[in-house]
Amino acid sequence: MRSDLDLELVSLTKRYGDTTAVDAINHLFHAGTYACLLGPSGCGKSSTLRMLAGHETVSDGNVLLGGRDIGRLPPAKRGTAMMFQSYALFPHLNVTENVGFSLKMKGTDPDKRRKAAMEMLELVDMTHLADRLPDQLSGGQQQRVALARALITRPQVLLLDEPLSALDPFLRVRMRSELRKLQKELGISFIHVTHGQDEALALADEIVVMNNAVIEQAGPTRDVFDRPATAFVAQFLGSHNVISLAEGKVAVRSDELRLATPGAAKLEGRIITVEYQGTHVALTAKVAGDQEVTALLTDKDFFGAPKDVGEAVGLDWDGTAAHPLRA
Ligand code: ADP
Ligand code: MG
Repeated sequence: MRSDLDLELVSLTKRYGDTTAVDAINHLFHAGTYACLLGPSGCGKSSTLRMLAGHETVSDGNVLLGGRDIGRLPPAKRGTAMMFQSYALFPHLNVTENVGFSLKMKGTDPDKRRKAAMEMLELVDMTHLADRLPDQLSGGQQQRVALARALITRPQVLLLDEPLSALDPFLRVRMRSELRKLQKELGISFIHVTHGQDEALALADEIVVMNNAVIEQAGPTRDVFDRPATAFVAQFLGSHNVISLAEGKVAVRSDELRLATPGAAKLEGRIITVEYQGTHVALTAKVAGDQEVTALLTDKDFFGAPKDVGEAVGLDWDGTAAHPLRA
């Protein structure tokens, strides 16, 4: 079903001189979805996001929001808002003034501005720090202010470029659950750029995996994780083995592999590493064709019949666990 708030990319392209940073990508972001644009550094994620926000010109193609072509409109007229990687708060303005800044630009009177800013600060749980300056705030607090500042324009789509990258790992995990909660509360679309697969898995209803300026695969998060379409996606998401068999290349989740007697299994090889991970043990073996294959065993399974580096081992899996990969 198509909603009047779906965001559609039609053959969207960005060129910088001779570099094609985004190469004719097509995608429909459904309204009210938390989507993650995931891919390695330089694959074109930020360029895509900036074209959606209007901070970068579109070289070719269109951006449609509810069927309306917004790709050449100024940022404030699109119905989108962007939260940047560095929160870019104005250092000389306090929290309330930072949040209300875009309304000031629009000529909204000070009382209304302050009221709207306080509402947004309420949303991100920051009313108690409304009078502070940005350098009197922690990284997590600055991020909340930046969120409130982006949301005060009442966007239909919030664009976030690596919003958690400046935070320490502990805060990052906490903030990501707050982002997720906020998106559900607001019911608007979030498009969140990240190069971290764990972040994308934790947050997204839908993952769009980019590589080399194109979309490699897009779909509901669990579908993409369970059925990676290419070796790149399987490897980038992690927790998968890419295995070349006589019948072709397949992806098999590490936790779907089990140990078996050599000779009575699909693969056999020699153990090269055994890594204890607490609840699990990751056992990597070198098999035919110099391929390295990792089995993630529960600690109980492993310590029930422990193995050492150098031992011969068979590796097996159920037929349904292997997913053929597109070349
Ligand atoms: P990502 O966000 O996935 O790391 P970017 O969209 O920033 O990727 O960059 C994609 C490609 O475009 C890279 O090769 C990058 O060097 C190039 N690029 C990005 N911004 C510019 C720019 N302003 N001028 C020239 N090349 C750029
Ligand atoms: Mg980037």
